[in-house]
Amino acid sequence: MIQDIGEKRLINEFRAKTPSSGSIMMMFFEEEILLKSKTPLEFPLFMDLRGKYARMGRPFPACVFLFSVGTDDYFLVSAPKSSKGDWEQEGYSFSRMFGIRALFPKERVFAASTAWHLYCWYRDHRFCGRCGGALEHGGKQRVLHCRICGNMVFPKIAPAVIVGVTWGDKILMTKYAGREYKKYALIAGFTEIGETAEQTVEREVYEEVGLKVKNIRYYKSQPWGFDENLLLGYFCDADGQEEIHLDCEELSVAEWVPYDKIPDDESGLSLTAEMMTHFRDSRMRR
Ligand SMILES: [Zn+2]
Repeated sequence: MIQDIGEKRLINEFRAKTPSSGSIMMMFFEEEILLKSKTPLEFPLFMDLRGKYARMGRPFPACVFLFSVGTDDYFLVSAPKSSKGDWEQEGYSFSRMFGIRALFPKERVFAASTAWHLYCWYRDHRFCGRCGGALEHGGKQRVLHCRICGNMVFPKIAPAVIVGVTWGDKILMTKYAGREYKKYALIAGFTEIGETAEQTVEREVYEEVGLKVKNIRYYKSQPWGFDENLLLGYFCDADGQEEIHLDCEELSVAEWVPYDKIPDDESGLSLTAEMMTHFRDSRMRR
């Protein structure tokens, strides 16, 4: 999965660091990220950007430490939207965040998705939601602080479930209505305030396909920064009936797929794809 990056693990303890020459700089413009190279995926380094700002005679923009992957430190740079054209002239390119997932190496895809999640949080929390005052960075932990009312704003993560509903040797596969992602998926949905993840599983399956479920088993979780989620994977069995009643606003397709028709997980990124192949392989071993 996207977070399985071997020896080079994500070290996300907050540190009040400043960038050095080889630090990796993450710069976003709306839905796009600034790239030094697409194949392999490379981001600009501090020394690249520092040189450019020096040539332009402009001060270096504000940046904040994000995390490390192995020995690489990642920083978020806040560049104004108006500077986007300058980067294209300098030979850099942009990629939509949705397109990043198809690139390699995987640890940089994971770093980009995690940086994007932090970027969205900083971008959307410039002012205090309680009193309207400006929020300031906390110096000792990942928090934004309002000097006027004392409000502390911590990073926002939206928990959501991915559900592999099974019926004998078949698993329920779906396609979303009206979304960019066109491949097969599993039932999924956000946890609402006041419910357990298991209750989310029951509610989402009933809402999307009209099935009751039983025997809910936790599988694995996955950070999915593209959509600011923590995904929780569960398997469960359809209870008593296999007849589907599709919620056409959410889904365009929902169908029972026999385990031997499940395709290989080529990208090795998503919990959804791993759960499908896990189901297939566990049935094949029987
Ligand atoms: Zn406030």
